[in-house]
Amino acid sequence: MKPAILTDTTKCTGCSECAIACQRVNRLERDIPRRWDFGDGLSAENWCSVVDAADNTFVRKQCRHCLDPACVDACPVGAMHKTAAGPVLCDTSKCIGCRYCMMACPFGIPRYEWSNVVPYVRKCVLCYDRIKAGGQPACTEACPAKATIFGDRDELLAEAHRRIRRNPGKYLDRVWGESEVGGTSVLYISGIDLSFLTYGEHFGKEPLPQTTTLAMESVPFAFLGMGAAMGGLYWIIERRNRLQAEKAAGEAKGQREPEK
Ligand code: SF4
Ligand code: SF4
Ligand code: SF4
Repeated sequence: MKPAILTDTTKCTGCSECAIACQRVNRLERDIPRRWDFGDGLSAENWCSVVDAADNTFVRKQCRHCLDPACVDACPVGAMHKTAAGPVLCDTSKCIGCRYCMMACPFGIPRYEWSNVVPYVRKCVLCYDRIKAGGQPACTEACPAKATIFGDRDELLAEAHRRIRRNPGKYLDRVWGESEVGGTSVLYISGIDLSFLTYGEHFGKEPLPQTTTLAMESVPFAFLGMGAAMGGLYWIIERRNRLQAEKAAGEAKGQREPEK
């Protein structure tokens, strides 16, 4: 089973029971997200938020647990890691607080502990301990409207497409998370465009680590190319200076030669 969540925003009433359950079960403190934390209600202590979007639609926001997560690829110390079972976790004993994962995440999910003297990055863990024990995430269990449900990713994808097929007027013909950035474990169906959950529309279906790995692999070659170019430039300048010096020396010698 590939653990996943399907959130159907057409069913969500905005009651925030999911966010309340998340805080309780994960023993998170109540805090006020910082002004610079995107205004979406997420913070190091709020791993789940409910965004009041357009047209009276509420959208539950949490880590998408990408199948090929960019945050994991960006983390230089292996603190962000993907478990064999699927959830993407952050090991605070390894985290050095560099925030590379925050910059890499296409959904702006990991948040920094701004008020801690030794801050780490934190985010939703897909209730890893609960699902390992055969249970389900606290948020899906708490939702009274069944707007957010837990299950196997393939089965939830089939269910999402079934709902869209049965109610084409109610839903846009798209399952968010099915394929963008290589696919995610948290899926959405909705009557409104959910592109605002992603940083821009420029992310395609390729997993981002493939892009970042290509960029990182190019760095040594870029340095070699730059080195070769700088070496060539140095040779040209050096040769020009040497020729100018020889010419000046020749002219000075000519001026000093006594007339015969
Ligand atoms: S949504 Fe962001 S933080 Fe979550 S797994 Fe994907 S890249 Fe990592
Ligand atoms: S899966 Fe668990 S940690 Fe993630 S938002 Fe839901 S309750 Fe919170
Ligand atoms: S508990 Fe369910 S209905 Fe309430 S805000 Fe969360 S997803 Fe929406």
